Amino acid sequence: MPTPKCALLIGHPLGHSLSPTFHNAAFRAAGIDATYRLADVLPENLAATVATLRATDMYGANVTVPYKQDVLPFLDALSDEAAALGAVNTIVNNDGKLVGLNTDVPGFAADIRARGIVVAGRPVILLGAGGAARAVIAALAGMAVGRLVIANRTTERASAIQRQYPAIATATGITYHDLSTTLPDTALLVNATSVGLHGDEIPIAAELLDLLPPTAVVYDLIYRPTALLRAAQQRNMHAIDGLGMLIHQGALAWEAWTGHNAPLNVMWQAAYDARAR
Ligand code: NDP
Repeated sequence: MPTPKCALLIGHPLGHSLSPTFHNAAFRAAGIDATYRLADVLPENLAATVATLRATDMYGANVTVPYKQDVLPFLDALSDEAAALGAVNTIVNNDGKLVGLNTDVPGFAADIRARGIVVAGRPVILLGAGGAARAVIAALAGMAVGRLVIANRTTERASAIQRQYPAIATATGITYHDLSTTLPDTALLVNATSVGLHGDEIPIAAELLDLLPPTAVVYDLIYRPTALLRAAQQRNMHAIDGLGMLIHQGALAWEAWTGHNAPLNVMWQAAYDARAR
């Protein structure tokens, strides 16, 4: 009998997470004897926890806030995407060697493609300049986005990312004054700030959505209905939450661990059900 395997979600604080539900549902559906567990790790225990991933019964881990950059020194190799971004959301145990991947980048791209949203050659506004925003920008650049406006409360953080994409990106603040002339030409507005994660805050004034063309898509990385998405729906716009990105980044991690195709439908259903509870 092969030893049961294990994958962790490393973060702090972890709170509620949908990941164990859909990863474990995928293991069950594929007949794989494995479990996905939460590992709420204090900073002083991060190195020791990552070291446990080298054991033969460990597939590896997902890594979330605040450790996506902090884990880098404890790994043996990085994928090109993880190296370019300087951030890892997935660790794979390859016979005792730990390889860092970033599946947020292809995860966002996969969800955009699966929904038939075309960004090639088209203008996009991205709200936010944190870790998730960097992953979204890398994905959009890889999909040949036409023009990208990075809008962030702290404009200097947006400018720091913009300098890496000088041919396509501009940086600005997040006010009416900053965005009113750009919105009418926008095909896709992505919220990668954490505004709306708790409660009913909205990252830009709802009235600004009136300036978007009616065909615009509003995508919020937060994976539940948010005030931004409600405001978009009230204007009959296509509004998408971040559950698809979460599933796709998770499915890519699951495939890297197991070597099998991920049962995407099973993962979707498990995540939907868990979110509704
Ligand atoms: P970071 O902490 O790295 O970045 C937070 C961003 O939100 C910054 O741009 C910050 O602006 C902005 N922000 C925070 N508070 C405010 C505020 N009160 N007003 C205006 N702007 C604010 O977080 P992440 O990039 O890691 O995550 C961002 C969001 O994306 C989270 O909600 C997270 O849950 C979600 N996410 C979803 C994923 C998915 O799979 N669906 C994957 C990864 C993340 P400033 O620079 O000015 O501080």
